[in-house]
Amino acid sequence: MAELKALCMKCRKDNKPTMQTMTKPVVTKNEKGRYSAKGVCAVCGGNMFKFMSEADAKPLM
Ligand SMILES: [Zn+2]
Repeated sequence: MAELKALCMKCRKDNKPTMQTMTKPVVTKNEKGRYSAKGVCAVCGGNMFKFMSEADAKPLM
């Protein structure tokens, strides 16, 4: 599986969220057909959330 990266709101640098690896991603599709992933930051253990394209999301479901 490819590494999934998302902005972590807790891992800030210069007061901006930074890209970190998402672990344990759970991909869901909402009623509007948008895919999103929820997971845990590999660095700080905080919750992460990311909208995904269908092409990115399908292999993770
Ligand atoms: Zn983090």
